[in-house]
Amino acid sequence: MLNFSSLSGMDKNPVPSPSDNVFPTPSIFGKIPSRLYVYGVNWIGDAVMSLSTLQAIRSQFPETFISVLASRQTQDVYGLSPVVDEVLPVFSRPGKAFSKRNAVSLCFPLSFRSAWTLWKGGWPNRIGYAFEGRSLLLSRALDYTGWKRRGQHQSTYYRELAESVYGPLGESDPVLSVPPEEREKARKFLREQHLDGRFLVAVNPGAYYGAAKMWPPGSYADLIRRILDCDPDIGVVLFSGEKDRWVTRDIASRVSSSRVFSIDGVLKLPVSVALLSLCHYVLSNDSGMMHLGGALGLPGAALFGPTDPVATGPMGGRTRILRHPVRCAPCFLRYCPIDHRCMLSLTPDVIWPTIRGDLGNVRRAIK
Ligand code: SF4
Repeated sequence: MLNFSSLSGMDKNPVPSPSDNVFPTPSIFGKIPSRLYVYGVNWIGDAVMSLSTLQAIRSQFPETFISVLASRQTQDVYGLSPVVDEVLPVFSRPGKAFSKRNAVSLCFPLSFRSAWTLWKGGWPNRIGYAFEGRSLLLSRALDYTGWKRRGQHQSTYYRELAESVYGPLGESDPVLSVPPEEREKARKFLREQHLDGRFLVAVNPGAYYGAAKMWPPGSYADLIRRILDCDPDIGVVLFSGEKDRWVTRDIASRVSSSRVFSIDGVLKLPVSVALLSLCHYVLSNDSGMMHLGGALGLPGAALFGPTDPVATGPMGGRTRILRHPVRCAPCFLRYCPIDHRCMLSLTPDVIWPTIRGDLGNVRRAIK
């Protein structure tokens, strides 16, 4: 039986304004630290989900200066957040503005390496979850198994870590801010492909995590043909990174239409996000692009197989989850050891009526 649903528990929760700050809780330091250093996460989707916590901190404590130590994979995501004041390389050292009394360092990843890097770098007041013997490297280690046992959305992992310093924080959906110059570059791409002015469907058929999360390229090609056939005004933009550009090339060769444009993994993330922001509907596997679409407030549909939308579903409340419940899910495996029934049961025939209905609704809403 199919389960077509939105994530009810993650619907819009407005970002509280500073005047709504009903939680002026003193931190564990006796006062709220004015500088926050965050060791950021390495996956794009996780980075997007972590933004809601940073937004809540900025909203309730507007004087806080937020720096993120980010890897190459996610530095652009944090750079597109309107609440992140600076993005630093992960091996940065504390500057003059940093003092033990006015700053705190949140370690978002669960890895030993991240705690070690903060410890080695001399960042004081290091707060993180206890995991794999790294507690000795942290100033305060929170109970990870307790959080895990509660089966909550990933965004609460970051929020509860921050709440140990700031007290209760409000909830909010992640927000990204696209710089005008990146948006102009994206518009230029669309003009060159004669896709400007069309209703654009963004399709992200890859998944860096592994093949188990991927819907077959042949199914995407079939669905895209139906989308193009249902309205001559629709264009499709195929998104991919360097590692999964083979998927978009495969799909583009199967569809072979001038209304399909593949970015072919050549665009840097800020301009990819700008291009995504010019699309009107996002069709994706469970991937970083799905989370970026949610953070841009775009409607869309996400195909879930081996992963759990309750734990890592897109935030923003506008993404429909397409899923075929199977006993073995969620398995969280990168490669399916059996017949990939969780994804293969979602045939184009099965999901097309839902996608067609969504596209009609979105088109009517923007006219
Ligand atoms: S084991 Fe089950 S849930 Fe995991 S990928 Fe295979 S079919 Fe999907």
